[in-house]
Amino acid sequence: MVWNRNFGSDIKTCQKCEIVLVKDTNWGGKKYICRPCDAEKSRLARLKKKQENPYGYVYVVFNPAWSEWYGVGKCDHNHEGRLAGYNVSSPLRDFRFLHLRQCDEPKILEDKVHEKLRKRTPISKKEWFMLDFKTIVDIIEETYEEEELNV
Ligand SMILES: [Zn+2]
Repeated sequence: MVWNRNFGSDIKTCQKCEIVLVKDTNWGGKKYICRPCDAEKSRLARLKKKQENPYGYVYVVFNPAWSEWYGVGKCDHNHEGRLAGYNVSSPLRDFRFLHLRQCDEPKILEDKVHEKLRKRTPISKKEWFMLDFKTIVDIIEETYEEEELNV
């Protein structure tokens, strides 16, 4: 019977809603979960992560050994932990944050700020920029206002 051949013992169903899984239609073919349930699962996971970690920072980091350079990066709410990470690589433990901008979307803010900073100075290396401190802070604050306050 055709019906048996197609929908017989190897019928697969979603472990959440028990809908029949059809590969490349409602199912990606990996875990036994349909696309809508999988999307919902990811959405809840993102939400949970957000609630546990509601904000982060974009910071300016500085070390007196390279006094013309400022690092601009992002971290989650635990900025003390991030700074400790920098100081692991310094015998003098003398990295300092000179500016901390609390924000909801540190990754997006950091990307936009880096893009603007690269336009302002030809001298940069990854997240390090040779530029005056005030300009950097102005760019961070201005970008923060554009991104998170004027929505
Ligand atoms: Zn499902």
